[in-house]
Amino acid sequence: MIIPIHPRLTDNELRELEEITLEFGVRIQPIHGNERSIYAILGDETSQDLINRIEGLAFVERVDRIQAPYKLMSRESKLSSHRVKVGDKILPGDFCVIAGHCTIDPKQKAMFLETAFAVKEAGADMIRGGVWKPRTSPHSFQGDAKSLEILVEARERTGLPINTEVMDFEQLKLCVDAKVDCLQIGARSALNYRLLQQVGELTKNTQTRVLLKRSMHMGPVSEFILAAEYIVAQGNPNVMLCPRGTVPTIEGFRNSPDESITLLLKERTWAPVVVDPSHSVGKAVYVPNACLAAAGYGADGILVETHCQPKKGMGDDPKQAVTPDVLAQIVKDTREIHGFAKHYAPKATAS
Ligand code: PEP
Ligand code: MN
Repeated sequence: MIIPIHPRLTDNELRELEEITLEFGVRIQPIHGNERSIYAILGDETSQDLINRIEGLAFVERVDRIQAPYKLMSRESKLSSHRVKVGDKILPGDFCVIAGHCTIDPKQKAMFLETAFAVKEAGADMIRGGVWKPRTSPHSFQGDAKSLEILVEARERTGLPINTEVMDFEQLKLCVDAKVDCLQIGARSALNYRLLQQVGELTKNTQTRVLLKRSMHMGPVSEFILAAEYIVAQGNPNVMLCPRGTVPTIEGFRNSPDESITLLLKERTWAPVVVDPSHSVGKAVYVPNACLAAAGYGADGILVETHCQPKKGMGDDPKQAVTPDVLAQIVKDTREIHGFAKHYAPKATAS
């Protein structure tokens, strides 16, 4: 819907507008009200180039889109009945829990395996463990490819699928070769469109899941959904959207908690939403409540950094990892809340 800056377009303005829309194979239908006229776009209005050209006209105030800019991720898409499997859970529908260390210490294999068994016992469906880590300082521990073997061993020993973050093509290749079940795209990489395409290309027509974190710098929800569209467009629809907090504005929390955007994501897309309360609030004592909130907002799962001995952990673990006994309670409570949230599931909206 095109809203002009003055009440009605002149004949010349309308002609100029129609010349553009003709190029894109769509038509303009004027709708004349008593005070103002608006101009509907008839046809496919998903092209960003079309919208940019119209919004570039001096006599246009704005374009309100009815159709979403994402084609594959939309609830109207043919993929809307697609389901993503995490262990024996099927999303959306079931509730899944991904848990484990922020960072695997390559010198402490036994400790990671202990956590892996403990999170399984607590009810987790997938084990996480950071092999390579995006650290703010180049002098901090950056991870170690050896930890990938430890993660794979944890899968063999527990029988649970595994998740780890990849930040570049080389890491992606190693993880695809090791048949890592779920590739995590971290908040810092979520705007790396080429990496998103490469993940999609290398995992197309496979069962590999992709857990896409929301970048702390993303604004509108559509920006997040379009990032997922990059992966799906290459042929892998097994994407899970993971809000994890945006740029911090609330003193006391590591990031600005954004569990609530689950509602908006679920209105607009079919993709499962797996919230990461650990990085959003950033402190172990706050994590359980944030998990309950995520389930209350209708999330399909949560990612919880968990460590059998947080004080001995690396990366985020000493600050934000919960212990397996706390995880067990979270699993129990969130599963119950997930059931309640189903009573209020959002209806589809397009934009
Ligand atoms: C993590 O999961 O440990 C991590 C680094 O997450 P994020 O990309 O959300 O900061
Ligand atoms: Mn972490």
